[in-house]
Amino acid sequence: MKIRTSDTIAAVATPRGEGAIAVVRLSGPESLAIADLMFRGSRPLRTAASHTLHHGLLRTPDGDPVDEVVAGVFRAPHSYTGEDVVEISCHGGVFVTDAVLGALLGAGARQAEPGEFTRRAFLNGKMDLSQAEAVAALIASGSNRAHRASLEQLNGRLAGTVGEIRSALLSLCALLEIDLDFSEEGINVISGGDIERKLLAAKSRLASMAETFRTGRLYRDGVSVVIAGKPNAGKSSLFNALLKDARAIVTPVPGTTRDFLEESITLSGVLFRLTDTAGLRDTGDPVELEGILRSRKSLERGDVIVLVDDNATTGERTESLVGELPSSSHQTVVLVRNKIDLVPGATPETREFVSGSRRGKEIFLSAATGTGVHLLAEELIRVVAEGGAESHESVQITARRHWDSLNRAITSLDAGLSSIRKGATNEFVAFDVRESMAALGEITGEVTSEEILNSVFSAFCIGK
Ligand code: GDP
Repeated sequence: MKIRTSDTIAAVATPRGEGAIAVVRLSGPESLAIADLMFRGSRPLRTAASHTLHHGLLRTPDGDPVDEVVAGVFRAPHSYTGEDVVEISCHGGVFVTDAVLGALLGAGARQAEPGEFTRRAFLNGKMDLSQAEAVAALIASGSNRAHRASLEQLNGRLAGTVGEIRSALLSLCALLEIDLDFSEEGINVISGGDIERKLLAAKSRLASMAETFRTGRLYRDGVSVVIAGKPNAGKSSLFNALLKDARAIVTPVPGTTRDFLEESITLSGVLFRLTDTAGLRDTGDPVELEGILRSRKSLERGDVIVLVDDNATTGERTESLVGELPSSSHQTVVLVRNKIDLVPGATPETREFVSGSRRGKEIFLSAATGTGVHLLAEELIRVVAEGGAESHESVQITARRHWDSLNRAITSLDAGLSSIRKGATNEFVAFDVRESMAALGEITGEVTSEEILNSVFSAFCIGK
């Protein structure tokens, strides 16, 4: 999709529904002229200074009154998009906002595509691509950690770090090229050892950034925790106990089916999505079977599986419990030995378990009395924190697109390293370094394509 960037666009920037006020945005060269066709205040907006607010009445071009509004004027280039912008604050409500937008469209503005305001901000150099993406992530953030990560990205932290590494690679490229020019005269500007060291230094920084994605993704999207186990092991009780322990603001998740229940809690600033699965038992009932199939699917999707065992009555062997799980190495398994209140002398505690290639924590608790449930909450927080502690890079990678680009940049540096070790000429190494820089340039948008922009901005809402 090729989007025109020279016309004037309009959209409602606030959520649809009733509210005290709503904001309708206009951006483009005709913003002030279009608004003036309908706005009647103490002066025309086109004579107003930038960053000023104006009270007035809005009428359709035919003279029908629409609403009493406040219009904000932001002149190019000092606006969000870098173009002339008018933000009309009108009364909130679907009918009023639709009428205001309809009047603007009738006066010559075009309905904005999703993310088009931010796309223009990017195209006009107001922000790099990673900052534009951070706008969407900030709006979508559902927890403290997600909020912090997107705010840092919005402040240009990611772009700054990527820029540093890119300029180190650029200097290396320059040296390699000068070296090529001088090599005919038998002069060496840079030694093979130096090239290798520089490649390794850049690679190690990129690798530590890429490593932060494991936790970054969890901060951004939340951690999916699937509670599984035999019927009556106490899964639902544990689910409820965790919600209570977290003093959660319980948010029902859309799409919840009767087969399993999903709720979100925040622990230590991280969002956890808890899923209580249907019992994993054999059944002939087709409805129940469907539930079980879905449970198995949600098991595969979980970042963490909390496997509940009724310690008091069955106390099943770890091997047979863990053996039933899908063998997926990225998942963390926490084994819960429930109902310790029924075992005389038992106290809540956390132990280590090893079963085949799996190892993890085994927590003794009582879902019914709540004893030891905090140990499980602590363990869930630890699972997320662990990945973050490994990295020396302070910048957090939260988007898969950035992670993909980093990995491609690393692969190109690896190719360069292997060329140098094989004694290939600097021309080959320079090629790989340039490829690596191109991959990094995609993160900030220095290297971009219509395809990348479309995929980034199509994920935005209209009006952003
Ligand atoms: P689910 O089928 O795995 O979801 O298990 P439920 O949470 O429905 O619990 C099954 C039964 O075990 C219920 O009667 C619960 O009250 C009981 N139960 C669950 N947890 C505990 C516990 O920690 N101690 C005791 N004594 N009973 C429990």
